[in-house]
Amino acid sequence: MSRTRRAFSNLLLAPMATGLIADDSMAAKREHMVSVHLESRGIRDAAVLRAMRRTPRHLFVPEDMRKQAYDDTPLPIGHGATISQPYIVALMTVLLQAGPRDNVLEIGTGSGYQAAVLAQLAQHVYTIELEPELARSAAETLRTLGHSNVTVRHGDGYLGWPEHAPFHRIILTAAPPQIPTRLIDQLARGGRLVAPVGDAADQELVLLEKLADGKTRTTQAGAVIFVPMRPALKR
Ligand code: SAH
Repeated sequence: MSRTRRAFSNLLLAPMATGLIADDSMAAKREHMVSVHLESRGIRDAAVLRAMRRTPRHLFVPEDMRKQAYDDTPLPIGHGATISQPYIVALMTVLLQAGPRDNVLEIGTGSGYQAAVLAQLAQHVYTIELEPELARSAAETLRTLGHSNVTVRHGDGYLGWPEHAPFHRIILTAAPPQIPTRLIDQLARGGRLVAPVGDAADQELVLLEKLADGKTRTTQAGAVIFVPMRPALKR
């Protein structure tokens, strides 16, 4: 790379530098998380691994949890929500297969971590959070990190986001008893939807594919534990 090109690409990275690259004391812990908890457990997707290497998970958890931010465990983020275990984030992101031309809908913004990972793979991420305070703080974290292709909305995920539908990819990070029909309706043909489905005691990770003829096919991808997707009062 020529000197000018390098200077230019550094300039492009500058808005994301805060906490992402510059003075990142957590980099070694994050590298350990990716190599030990993701790569050695079978996560092979290079784009997903790269995104997770670049995403400062410690900035998405409450300050008193930062030391544990790169352990392979879910962590409480307040308001009854949890940031998922890194391995599960990676697994769901691999299943989703979001690419640079994809419009993604996420239900359950929580801390914004999953949205930040997806923002590096997709064209745009629309993400909905029921808890207003979480929606506000996630939007702020994502803005600080320079993820301008993520839009956070406080609202009920059961309704989806019809103004931006159809979505090529939909991911739920809270578990509904069944995949909501409205979300299936907002999925593009050829699209993929990944969700934990079930009740508090028994959830399964499900991949739903909408085929070219509009029919759907579901595949089960293992047992998981997520916070339940809460029904809104009125629908
Ligand atoms: N993806 C998040 C983790 C989300 S935890 C992250 O990376 O941090 C699940 C989130 O779903 C919680 O924040 C919870 O408030 C939210 N949630 C639950 N029911 C919802 C609903 N009906 N609509 C939108 N969000 C919902």
